[in-house]
Amino acid sequence: MENKASVMVQRYELGRLLGQGTFAKVYYARNTGSNQSVAIKVIDKEKITKASLIDQIKREISIMRLVRHPNILRLYEVMATKTKIYFVLEYAKGGELFDKVAKGKLKEDVAWKYFYQLINAVDFCHSRGVYHRDIKPENLLLDENENLKVSDFGLSALAESKRQDGLLHTTCGTPAYVAPEVINRKGYDGAKADIWSCGVVLFVLLAGYLPFHNSNLMEMYRKIGKAEYKCPSWFPREVRRLLSRMLDPDPNTRTSIALIRQSSWFKKGLRSKNARSGVESNAVAPEDATAGSGPSEGSVAADGNQEPDRPPTLNAFDIISLSAGFNLSSLFEDNSKKKETLFTCRKPASVILSKLEEMAKLLRFRVQKKEAGLLKFEALTEGKKGALSIDTEIFEVTPSFYLVEMKKSNGDTLEYQKVLKEDIRPALKDIVWVWRGEQEQQQQDPQPQPLQPQDQVRDPYPEQDGASQPQ
Ligand code: AMP
Repeated sequence: MENKASVMVQRYELGRLLGQGTFAKVYYARNTGSNQSVAIKVIDKEKITKASLIDQIKREISIMRLVRHPNILRLYEVMATKTKIYFVLEYAKGGELFDKVAKGKLKEDVAWKYFYQLINAVDFCHSRGVYHRDIKPENLLLDENENLKVSDFGLSALAESKRQDGLLHTTCGTPAYVAPEVINRKGYDGAKADIWSCGVVLFVLLAGYLPFHNSNLMEMYRKIGKAEYKCPSWFPREVRRLLSRMLDPDPNTRTSIALIRQSSWFKKGLRSKNARSGVESNAVAPEDATAGSGPSEGSVAADGNQEPDRPPTLNAFDIISLSAGFNLSSLFEDNSKKKETLFTCRKPASVILSKLEEMAKLLRFRVQKKEAGLLKFEALTEGKKGALSIDTEIFEVTPSFYLVEMKKSNGDTLEYQKVLKEDIRPALKDIVWVWRGEQEQQQQDPQPQPLQPQDQVRDPYPEQDGASQPQ
């Protein structure tokens, strides 16, 4: 029997419990090869299956791999057993930012630094079409240099309030950080909702308490709906002005990230940051190529996918390798014998669909549209093991970035591979950005490799579900 300090995949030595939520427990761990500290989030698959979160999580993990920024917690890899999913994350040694605020309001320059880093992270993600939708204290962590690390970007399906109560913390299920239009369940703009939450965070950093707080939930809703809050006397005028624009109940007139950057308080801090090199080295992580000049200032490629420090295609490789590691359907449906073919695509969904239909016509396949994003191709002629049939699923990662999965659902494997190589690949060449198979030769980034189906993962918590077996 393994205990909690067991070695997982012979690469991670698990240590103490860092935190806990409904779906997940987070442990400190050490990569035994590199000695690197990481945090491992262990998610109970059964719980997320019951909550019907699987598809969302699969997609959101792809997103998390897309967003690499010094103020966003890195997701290194994803592993799984039959019962658990493991996220290997960057370790935020400084813990939660709000544990600091709980000790009292922050000085203006310190609050500015965290707000600045938060806006940089959020701006970066928005430029890639990714919205957090759940910015709140538990998701703002600090590294050993007191730099902000936003966690759960793209994993908001898993995020939930864990605190029971407290001066600063959301009571479980209360909407203290949530924009009015989100509460009203109207269709909402993710960017504007994030800006509201950033406004609440700014208030809390400087005040030491929440702007909207009431033991009566209805009263709290009412206050949020009308943006009824009162700034404490020590708030500078520039902050009040900025807050009133961020905490505008109407998302249409609410300010934008570009305008936040233009605000006098934001710029004032930037000037003093530049003047005081000590703060500068704290405010921006050393590896940061984008912070300090966020996407609004043009440092990120217009295509929204290029990362400044890596070749542009690596994003696609990340996603594909991750999908292989996460093994999409196979982890959950236990059909790991089936091999999927994956490619990424930077064309709109309509273009992908019409190209796939064109391909079907060319190859004399019948096309059946099963449901949104799911197509079935069936050969009109019989093969060695019946008619070849291929299921194709299109996943939206961002509106301009798709992951397409093709899987043989009937017919002979060799015949399928031949058709794939000789017919399908050439027919789709105009829309494919990267095929999964191309990743192995080209990826140079020495990241930990995601789990392959044949890898052995030992469940570190056998006492909770003794039936857990490596896949
Ligand atoms: P979560 O379920 O992601 O909200 O994590 C629960 C708690 O675990 C957080 O509130 C943090 O206190 C802690 N935690 C989560 N991720 C990390 C990390 N990468 N490094 C350090 N602590 C973490």
